[in-house]
Amino acid sequence: MIVGLTGGIGSGKTTVAKIFAHLGIAIYDSDSAAKRIMDTDDELKDQLQTLIGTDVLDENRLINKPFLAKLIFNDDTLLAKVNGLIHPAVGRDFKNWVATQDSKYVIKEAAILYESQAYKACDKVVVVTAPQEMRIERVMKRSGISREEVEDRMAKQWPDEKKVELADYVIYNDQSKSIIKQVLVIHEDLISQSNSRIR
Ligand code: ATP
Repeated sequence: MIVGLTGGIGSGKTTVAKIFAHLGIAIYDSDSAAKRIMDTDDELKDQLQTLIGTDVLDENRLINKPFLAKLIFNDDTLLAKVNGLIHPAVGRDFKNWVATQDSKYVIKEAAILYESQAYKACDKVVVVTAPQEMRIERVMKRSGISREEVEDRMAKQWPDEKKVELADYVIYNDQSKSIIKQVLVIHEDLISQSNSRIR
């Protein structure tokens, strides 16, 4: 069973993923996988070279990430095209990874699980949410970036409310209740659902 774990920037999804990991659940981190794949997936490199040109690869055939970031920063059409290549590459990598796992269910953690449509390949989705101001302050503290920068990134993602509406499970990381307890309840439910599935 594939369980998606998502939430906007600073919602606490990585913190929540760590709790699931403590329970023995295998976690796939889509964001770091995307970065790794850019250096290892030859098919993706070839596709990016066709889209952007030879300059996208350096002399060691590694993606020139600062160059690519600069190009897509203010070009939403190019960003969409690049994402259209990266998301399927992550999908291929995830499929290979899942085949090597034997936990009752696996978690695919992704900041933009809904935005990228990756949720469609998940059996269940857990959304982590927290009040906007709390998220901004946590990210400013964690990453040392400005309020404006956090707000800019937030504006590029779907609002939490939309994700919460579509979620199968919601974790409220607003300090009003223990996230460990919330994870335990969801974990028990997911285990019982995976037990009752016909494999
Ligand atoms: P991003 O999408 O930016 O990677 P995220 O959703 O994965 O963010 P985390 O990295 O888990 O969020 O949390 C953001 C910051 O807030 C981290 O520094 C984390 O330690 C802190 N944080 C998360 N949850 C809590 C909490 N309940 N209490 C205090 N700090 C928290």
